[in-house]
Amino acid sequence: MEIYFDCSATIKPYPEVLKTFEAITVNDFANSSSNHGLGYKSLTVLEKARRQVAKYLNVQPEEIIFTSGATEGNNLAIKGVCYREKRHKKTIITTKGEHPSVLEVFHKLEEDGFKAIYLDYDKEGKINMEQLKQALNDDVALVSIMAINNEVGYIFPIDKIYQIIKERSDAYLHVDATQAIGKEILPSNSYDLLTFSGHKIGGLKGSGVLVKKKDVYLEPLINGGGQENGLRSGTSSLGLDCALATALRITMSTFKERYAKADEINKYLRAELSSISEIVITSPRTATPFILNFALTEHKGSVIAEALSNNNIYVSTTSACSSRQAGESYVLKSAGFDSTIYKNSIRLSFSGLESFEEAQFFVDTLKKLLKEIRPNVN
Ligand code: PMP
Repeated sequence: MEIYFDCSATIKPYPEVLKTFEAITVNDFANSSSNHGLGYKSLTVLEKARRQVAKYLNVQPEEIIFTSGATEGNNLAIKGVCYREKRHKKTIITTKGEHPSVLEVFHKLEEDGFKAIYLDYDKEGKINMEQLKQALNDDVALVSIMAINNEVGYIFPIDKIYQIIKERSDAYLHVDATQAIGKEILPSNSYDLLTFSGHKIGGLKGSGVLVKKKDVYLEPLINGGGQENGLRSGTSSLGLDCALATALRITMSTFKERYAKADEINKYLRAELSSISEIVITSPRTATPFILNFALTEHKGSVIAEALSNNNIYVSTTSACSSRQAGESYVLKSAGFDSTIYKNSIRLSFSGLESFEEAQFFVDTLKKLLKEIRPNVN
């Protein structure tokens, strides 16, 4: 049996998505900016995909900007606001637990002269709201907070944060919703900018969306032919954009069943893992059911993850983007866990398309490996 519990890193594209991609790429190959019949046809297809995406996110079609993924979207949203506002506002706020595609952008902006504030959160994933309230003033251009944390599964209260921001400032709220689309309901009136990637929802790598509300103004990062409302120049990738629209439709229409399945599997795994003495479950009960993070106190997390992989069970230590470099979770470290925990964590992440038997097989294999492999945490 092959078990893939690394769905926060990516999932396999839905077969229907591949069909859409192929059909559109072949049949509507013309450049959607071309001034001839085939170009107009491509443009019609592109705008239909945009309307579809807008409908599922409950926003206006003009508010959808197709991108290459969440990394690009996060860069465009954050730098786009800051470069536009740089003469008037110099403060930006985020949390210590964001993805590198937000944190590294903040570090770059600090080099450019912005003052960045990194909010704390605790082991339950509760953001320090007092710190947020105190940091807000007329100098704040943007607050960037993820909807669901990709390593531990914390659900950050976006609607409450939006309300606090708007009561105290005219800063924009950018939400990295990469782990939340199709996994949590996000009201469209609780953010100014929102980003996600196609490949996390059964679409294709190299596709993504930035939602930019009408009254938000950005400085483009890529200049050229003026596509995507002047914010992302370059010939539109019709196949990728339509594939993303198809993936979003499928992910939204299967939300309830996938959520229920992830919840069932998560509850079972939480109970089973809790009964193993060396395991500390680090995802709070309030976390999304799609992510379950735990740490080992007697074995190295990386050794167990590798042994699982040798048994055709695929999981992550920290997130896919940082695990190869550091081997420790800055998300858990910032939450206040000690080094044994943040250096030996394992993340299981689900799409809701898994079977209960896979979860049982995972537990049996993990128990076997923990017995077979000599303890070696230090
Ligand atoms: N934000 C979050 C929360 C993520 O989990 C990821 C992917 N791990 C990204 C942004 C970046 O997505 P991509 O690599 O598709 O650009």
